[in-house]
Amino acid sequence: MRYISTRGQAPALNFEDVLLAGLATDGGLYVPENLPRFTQEEIASWAGLPYHELAFRVMRPFVTGSIPDADFKKILEETYGVFSHNAVAPLRQLNGNEWVLELFHGPTLAFKDFALQLLGRLLDYVLEKRGERVVIVGATSGDTGSAAIEGCKHCENVDIFILHPHNRVSEVQRRQMTTLFGENIHNIAIEGNFDDCQEMVKASFADQSFLKGTRLVAVNSINWARIMAQIVYYFHAALQLGGPARSVSFSVPTGNFGDIFAGYLARNMGLPINQLIVATNRNDILHRFMSGNHYVKETLHATLSPSMDIMVSSNFERLLFDLHGRNGAAIAALMDSFRQGGGFSVEQERWTEARKLFDSLAVDDAQTCETIAEVYEQTGEVLDPHTAIGVKAARECRRSLDIPMVILGTAHPVKFPDAVEKAGVGRALELPVHLADLLERDERCTVLPNDLKAVQAFVSQHGNRGKPL
Ligand SMILES: *Cc1c(COP(=O)(O)O)cnc(C)c1O
Repeated sequence: MRYISTRGQAPALNFEDVLLAGLATDGGLYVPENLPRFTQEEIASWAGLPYHELAFRVMRPFVTGSIPDADFKKILEETYGVFSHNAVAPLRQLNGNEWVLELFHGPTLAFKDFALQLLGRLLDYVLEKRGERVVIVGATSGDTGSAAIEGCKHCENVDIFILHPHNRVSEVQRRQMTTLFGENIHNIAIEGNFDDCQEMVKASFADQSFLKGTRLVAVNSINWARIMAQIVYYFHAALQLGGPARSVSFSVPTGNFGDIFAGYLARNMGLPINQLIVATNRNDILHRFMSGNHYVKETLHATLSPSMDIMVSSNFERLLFDLHGRNGAAIAALMDSFRQGGGFSVEQERWTEARKLFDSLAVDDAQTCETIAEVYEQTGEVLDPHTAIGVKAARECRRSLDIPMVILGTAHPVKFPDAVEKAGVGRALELPVHLADLLERDERCTVLPNDLKAVQAFVSQHGNRGKPL
């Protein structure tokens, strides 16, 4: 499989190189040159497969030529073997024909484990083969950081540096990062906000001289491997609910547009999906595009669903590329106008096409709490605020009661006690067994000033398993 850039100017890469790449050299994002397409018979024949075996069948075409089948199978078995639920991604029924796909049974209790557990193992495999080492520098407002550290903690050939805004992530989220020790694990608390952290990561990708020749790898969802891993659970859910003979709808709590883009790909690969609903919080750039053809940056609002607090959705460029007939020059021009003017609209027929593919809704904090309370009353289930946004959007945007509606359950509610408390849910939530003593564990973290040079000096001092690069 070859991968091409959404801006048309960077060289095509194979899977191995795309795994190790950040942005393409032209500033674009990598996408498969040709998407595999499965027949209905083929998909139907996967019913009942364990998650890791289904994962092998869905993802195999993407890694062909880079990873031999036997090795890939072994990696997948290991990856999904660490999940605490035997079904890996179980469905829980909330209502008539309404289901939550629980994607929070991985080590850090959010769906990001599906991709980052795999990414860590793939990196180690590829780097071992090449005899190389890499450095990861990532920014997190919460879920990505812990999932990335958990995914990479056993990697022999990866040193991981995660920047989080000092005193601005929840205690559970911080401790999920800072209580993991290893000579290749480095938590840095920046005296600044999340945007400051992200700017430092971007600047480090732009000028990597401080790494003395060591390669920098991306762990956010611009990395293609993350999207790829997320395609699998759409197939998994549909097969549980009578697909592909019957079509299924999905409502997806959305920030950077990575998770729902994987659903869009699943549909293009042959899975019958009826509706794909983009569910956002008050940071609603995607809903504003879907409902009014305005993709315009606005100020960032802090919400009860912090993992969806974004101003701009980086993966949206991948959809725009398809909407524009995969014309890289058109995307480069569009992104240029976005950078200069802070927004754009697309031609009417392209927008109409987007509207055919997606429905959308923006849900505020009050509605989020109402939904948590409502579902608790109806079922006794406690939803996390992100999942609640998905449920609200599903209930508002649903077109047919005959088609199963699956809401992606993106996080465990115990990670977001503020929202659950605000919703007035009386039930105390307990951390799962493997994290039961989280609040008593020792922490390790370095506080650094909001200064790029200081951060880069720290990375080059510690980037080789704690020793200088
Ligand atoms: C990351 C995250 C999201 C948003 O996913 P995107 O792929 O960025 O759209 C939603 N919910 C939770 C809990 C997350 O951690």
